[in-house]
Amino acid sequence: MNRIVVAGGGLAGISTARGLRKLGYAGELTIVGAERHRSYDRPPLSKEFLAGTVDVADISLELPGEDLGLRWRLGVAAVSLGPTREVGLSDGSRLPADGVVVATGAVPRWLPAGRQLPAGVHVLRTLEDSTTLRADLRAGGRLAVVGAGFIGAEVASTASRLGLRVDVVEVDPVPLRFALGEQMGAAVAALHERNGVRLHCGVGVSGLLGTGRVSGVALADGREVTAGTVVIGIGVTPATDWLRSSGIDVGSDGVRCDAAGATSLPGVVAVGDCSTWLDPATGRHERIEHWTAARDRGVVAAATLLGVTPPKPRHGGLPYFWSDQYGKRIQFAGRICPDVDVEEGSIDAGSFLAVYRRDGTPVGVLGMDRPRAFVAWRRRLAAPPIGGQATASADAAPGTP
Ligand SMILES: Cc1cc2nc3c(=O)[nH]c(=O)nc-3n(C[C@H](O)[C@H](O)[C@H](O)COP(=O)(O)OP(=O)(O)OC[C@H]3O[C@@H](n4cnc5c(N)ncnc54)[C@H](O)[C@@H]3O)c2cc1C
Repeated sequence: MNRIVVAGGGLAGISTARGLRKLGYAGELTIVGAERHRSYDRPPLSKEFLAGTVDVADISLELPGEDLGLRWRLGVAAVSLGPTREVGLSDGSRLPADGVVVATGAVPRWLPAGRQLPAGVHVLRTLEDSTTLRADLRAGGRLAVVGAGFIGAEVASTASRLGLRVDVVEVDPVPLRFALGEQMGAAVAALHERNGVRLHCGVGVSGLLGTGRVSGVALADGREVTAGTVVIGIGVTPATDWLRSSGIDVGSDGVRCDAAGATSLPGVVAVGDCSTWLDPATGRHERIEHWTAARDRGVVAAATLLGVTPPKPRHGGLPYFWSDQYGKRIQFAGRICPDVDVEEGSIDAGSFLAVYRRDGTPVGVLGMDRPRAFVAWRRRLAAPPIGGQATASADAAPGTP
């Protein structure tokens, strides 16, 4: 391979590029990025960047002094992938390639009302989204967040700490039920309430109020929530429209890959939020929208493209995510199941460690403000069974968890 094109300059794109160089690829390496910026980190966009405590320079994903020998094509989107792996761009140019990395991430869902929304209504995915939301939050007043998933919860937390009065509307009776299970979702709900954020669960949104500028949210049960700023955090859709005529297998939830990132097209891998990888543990395809998967799978996809053996995954490839809310670090590793017990601390104190067990065997761990105990449990869950192979670390930079 002499020419590799990476479509998408986010975490998955830069991590795969870094992986390619690390594995010895010395040919042309082009990153096509629809945004005007080189790779930056998204988690601070709902936390420190939104709060105004870190700036653009602090969230670069490139390491100081790092030179990956990349050609950047910024502000242009990949619009097609041809049969010989030629990537068509939105400016009309074409990039021939021996190998292609699909790393185009995901785009936020909007309410069915579509994009004709009054001013003051936001989604949150990009630097620009966070910058415009930050300006509205600085004006103070009342904020309504639609959706109590991780992004919604983090925005609610940041805004309440900035002094806004915050309401969160969630259609599910328990926030984060799919990510953490019912009992632990309720524990996170309690955290909102303890911090003065009003949570309206089990009710949908029937519309937005106000013309010109938003004045609130109408709930499906007839109530209204007053707000001068509204954030919609109801999930994302994989950014795969550009692959429509490529013949690649795109399921209902992203580009379908095997357990090492290979797609249905030879010489094309997919990684990050746009992809759904086969999970050998469950035999199912699963799209993981978390930072650690986008980073760690980059080197695996790079190895797949080059036809070499990937380094062993960190922590045995155990799924992991974190979220920061109301000054608490929430960490999860493994898988959820209905049987979960608090092993240390207490939910009421906002500091606990809970272990999920299937037939008595630990399969997942959740920590709130328990980083040490969490790390020990994460290691324990990732340890190979006695007599199995040890896992070495595929160190990838930069080093957020
Ligand atoms: C506000 C926010 C907070 C988060 N906080 C956490 C957290 O605390 N913990 C955690 O584990 N995870 C968190 N995440 C999730 C994590 O950041 C993502 O999983 C990760 O960024 C995914 O990386 P990616 O490269 O797959 O996608 P992205 O980061 O979305 O990058 C994809 C890039 O591709 C570009 N692109 C799209 N279409 C095209 C095209 N056709 N051609 C060229 N370029 C294209 C996009 O513009 C984008 O720049 C957060 C995400 C957000 C948005």
